[in-house]
Amino acid sequence: MKKILFAASECTPFVKTGGLADVIGSLPQALQSEDLCEVRVVLPLYDEISSEWTEQMEKTADFQVQVGWRSQEASLYELNHEGVTYYFIGNDYYYTRKGIYGYYDDGERFVFFSRAVIEALQHIDYEPDVLHGHDWQTGLAVAFAKIFHPGNLKTVFTIHNIKYQGLMPHHAFNDLIQLPLEHFGGFEWNGMINCMKSGIFHADKITTVSPSYAEEIKDPFYGESLHPLLRERDADLSGVINGINAEDYNPMKDPNIPVNYSHSRVKKKENKEALQEELGLHVNRDIPVYIAISRLVEQKGFHLLERILDEFLQQEVQVIILGTGEYEFEESFKHLAWKHQGKMATLLKFDEGTARKLYASADFFLMPSKFEPCGLSQLIALRYKTVPIVRETGGLKDTVQPFNEITGEGNGFSFTNYNAHDLLSVMNYSLSIYHQPDLWNKLIKNVNKSQFSWKESAKAYAGIYSGLTETETAPEE
Ligand code: ADP
Repeated sequence: MKKILFAASECTPFVKTGGLADVIGSLPQALQSEDLCEVRVVLPLYDEISSEWTEQMEKTADFQVQVGWRSQEASLYELNHEGVTYYFIGNDYYYTRKGIYGYYDDGERFVFFSRAVIEALQHIDYEPDVLHGHDWQTGLAVAFAKIFHPGNLKTVFTIHNIKYQGLMPHHAFNDLIQLPLEHFGGFEWNGMINCMKSGIFHADKITTVSPSYAEEIKDPFYGESLHPLLRERDADLSGVINGINAEDYNPMKDPNIPVNYSHSRVKKKENKEALQEELGLHVNRDIPVYIAISRLVEQKGFHLLERILDEFLQQEVQVIILGTGEYEFEESFKHLAWKHQGKMATLLKFDEGTARKLYASADFFLMPSKFEPCGLSQLIALRYKTVPIVRETGGLKDTVQPFNEITGEGNGFSFTNYNAHDLLSVMNYSLSIYHQPDLWNKLIKNVNKSQFSWKESAKAYAGIYSGLTETETAPEE
């Protein structure tokens, strides 16, 4: 069986800021449960990781990692969780901090991590066939694997979001990376050291998290300046849609929600009433509830929502927003909630339990993203029988089919152009469907049937790994 080592910067249930953590926390299990390959995962040991996990870890090695002229200490810990072995790399200087990103030296923190991943290969009882790096934080690990282990360690690099690239001034090549000058071109882009570029440049295969996004990032609008490189590497680039852990996100068993349910809209409405009560909204199970659960950043389409919510809220509807992020959005959604007391709530926090209560209570899930590599929230919403309303981009386009009242097909609502009034009109249309029981029931039937498991995608990844590691047979004379 092929041996794969994932390197990533976050992973449920240990540490999470977004969908990347969900993927790293569920794809290895999916690959293993289908007996497709063995997967282990290496992560930084952040201070954020709770004692519930650190107490279970076993220290297995101490070693030195060269970061430019400095020699940094690394400690290696091991933990087995639900059949997967996780390695954690600790260093007090880089990771004993609040939160996991957002520091002036984030670039250096992940140069260290990337070097440490390669160094750790000598200290673990596991010889991977493939190193699979995820996002810019591990782009350099992929580069180092290619440079230090040419030939015998294959590499895959997955782009989860091309907007975040890990940029550093070009002198970081000398200060932190310290390789012979001939390698400079593999790390530099537009005068900066670019970790995302380094991963894309050096990887044997590149994947991203939906077929549509794999196409979009070759275009200047979505490519965040890396589109020329992606076009060059087109033959090695593919899109594999993410799944979710349907056992973990399971409304039938989720302990965070007051009433568990499978298909019952009545029980879902009981959750709605409990939530309305808790948040000080008018308690009425028949009022449609629209939610957004997200990082409050431009990518997620909040400029559009900000523009039209006041008008939308003139109707008999409720809106709940859960998230943290840019000041502008936090302030304007707080203001709107104040203005529409009883109809709108804004919860400025990152809280898994609250998120699940919202998924379980709402009728509609808003995700009008400007771009969306895959998006897991719309899949979680579908799993909790909440109808997604999305913009047709990236993974949203690949997972949500717009409802067609003539044919009765479709599991959500969508609009094409990044335009606030297009969003408003599709939200108004969703409201009209909600009030027509025949059509609403058809839509809900489709929502109930939606698929979001890892099964097919895990097979696609396994195919990529075996394509890389199969020994080439010489053609017969
Ligand atoms: P991204 O990775 O771009 O943030 P995704 O839709 O892929 O977006 O994944 C977001 C994940 O983070 C989902 O699991 C979602 O439920 C969760 N999430 C986002 N914001 C919050 C929040 N404020 N509280 C709890 N969970 C959140």
